[in-house]
Amino acid sequence: MDRLIQGTAADGTIRVFAAITTEILREAVRRHETSPTVSAAFGRVLTGTLLLGSTFKDYDRLTVKIDSNGPVGGIIAETTGIGTVRGYVKNANAELPPAGNGKFNVSGVVGEGTFYVIRESGFDIGLHKEPYVGSVPLVSGEIAEDFAYYLAKSEQIPSAVLLGVLLKSTEPFVAASGGVLIQMLPGANEHIITMIEDTIRHAPHITSSIADGAGPEDLLRIALGEVDFDVLDEKEVEFRCNCSMEKAVGLIGSLGKTEVESMLNEDKGAEMNCGFCNENYRLSESDLEDILRAETRV
Ligand code: ZN
Repeated sequence: MDRLIQGTAADGTIRVFAAITTEILREAVRRHETSPTVSAAFGRVLTGTLLLGSTFKDYDRLTVKIDSNGPVGGIIAETTGIGTVRGYVKNANAELPPAGNGKFNVSGVVGEGTFYVIRESGFDIGLHKEPYVGSVPLVSGEIAEDFAYYLAKSEQIPSAVLLGVLLKSTEPFVAASGGVLIQMLPGANEHIITMIEDTIRHAPHITSSIADGAGPEDLLRIALGEVDFDVLDEKEVEFRCNCSMEKAVGLIGSLGKTEVESMLNEDKGAEMNCGFCNENYRLSESDLEDILRAETRV
């Protein structure tokens, strides 16, 4: 299973996070049938969201939303504090020819727009606090730079972010996916910051290392070079949605008696699709009859 680790370096003045997300992106691509360039963009957003989510405490749900004018139209990813992530894109089939350097044209498929981070909390204990919403304009559309810009601008935390996706032409299409997030806390030594920035600039592609079997610790070693780090926490991470047949039934029921009756009489059933994971829920005639019976009892 995919793994995410977090730790510190330079006497606690630097926080470090790294994740392998190959399985997560495979599941996302399988569910949403995204084109290669959209898969590259989507993978970076899913990984960045998991890493960003690990930097915060005290939230139930953290959503990264990219609203943009490029062919993909928008990308959404949502993570929980316990290591699950789910997401979708507006136009899964959008595609562009590779950029001049032969790489996926991620910034082209994303386009210009706004990068939002929404943190919500309190659901579990029945509180509905106002969500915390931060936003910045997209600065590159290559995603990693956009996460770093958000952290610097909106959270005032100078950060370095590396996100990578390596695809192949045969199923499951994803050869490697992962990323690193490094945060400089107040008091971080300028010399060490410069060293890390330099290492990252010259770092080999993390995706080829992941494809060769590198774990999150190896990614941190690549990104930090000579700088030592301590791993403080690690968790398994996965693509998981919280939809269910039970919720689908509840939603249909909430449409009201007339609507459910018309689904029963005219459509002989109902179908619901979860946008986040593309799962289809089919309700049979007898399912709808059960909903109506439950309503009558109330
Ligand atoms: Zn779902």
